[in-house]
Amino acid sequence: ATPTSIMAGSGRAAEFGILFKGGEHLETTHHIDTVILDKTGTVTNGTPVLTDVLIENGMGEQHFLSLIGAAEKQSEHPLAQSIVQGIQERKISLALVQEFEAIPGYGVKAVVNQKVLLVGTRKLMKQNNVDITKALPAMEDLEGQGKTAMLASIDGEYAGLIAVADTIKDTSQTAIKRLKEMDIQVIMITGDNQRTAHAIGNQVGIDQVIAEVLPEGKAEEVKKLQAAGKKVAMVGDGINDAPALALADIGMAIGTGTDVAMEAADITLIRGDLNSIADAILMSRKTMRNIK
Ligand code: ADP
Ligand code: MG
Repeated sequence: ATPTSIMAGSGRAAEFGILFKGGEHLETTHHIDTVILDKTGTVTNGTPVLTDVLIENGMGEQHFLSLIGAAEKQSEHPLAQSIVQGIQERKISLALVQEFEAIPGYGVKAVVNQKVLLVGTRKLMKQNNVDITKALPAMEDLEGQGKTAMLASIDGEYAGLIAVADTIKDTSQTAIKRLKEMDIQVIMITGDNQRTAHAIGNQVGIDQVIAEVLPEGKAEEVKKLQAAGKKVAMVGDGINDAPALALADIGMAIGTGTDVAMEAADITLIRGDLNSIADAILMSRKTMRNIK
């Protein structure tokens, strides 16, 4: 590769908001045959809104949400911020928290008003022996709509659930179609549950979905694909995407995401638009043709 063609290519890419960290990445990118997309904040806008509250223990909505909000206020998770915002918009003041513990990939545990509160996934409830049979029909319905539903228990009893909805970026569907037309395998990865992930996948044309991945698990999936001989680009925005971004043949961070993701990646996509992925690969191919 001649330094001149690399420089010209990098400059042109930068005009499109595609920032290569080094010339070598402009060369490697043309090999990519597999793209893994993080769901929240990458395929979607990543700003979920509290949409549903279902209380099943007879508690009033104000009381229920004041407990949930108190616990979530202590969490740094993006879902927690959406939940707290939704509760505050309902003009509900939060209860006092005595203890708090974040359980990455599962949810939160807190002691609020002397009650033990859990908020999170099915697995969190299962690990704590909370019977959630009653919750399942409503939960599955919400997930089928692409919403993320979170279960709540109080002192070991299922109490109700809340759900948030994220919106898909306007450009995601077209961008994914372009990648597929370039014969690139597109996979979506998420810590969210199977049903929600497939509902979102269906809306954007991705049938290969890896869901319920624990925070450390994304890099593991990259490794598996590489072991099968794939040249993998990982695209993500979150702190828990960083190990996968670093391990992938090419890591692409969304410019609106976390600094941690951008530091780990080889390319920053300044525009949140996933069309930049195909653009980056095409520009790399073009640069390599000019070299030969
Ligand atoms: P992601 O951010 O990719 O959706 P995580 O691994 O961070 O995935 O979380 C997986 C799941 O754990 C979430 O979809 C949610 O159901 C649950 N969860 C995580 N954090 C919280 C929280 N603060 N409150 C409630 N549920 C949570
Ligand atoms: Mg994300």
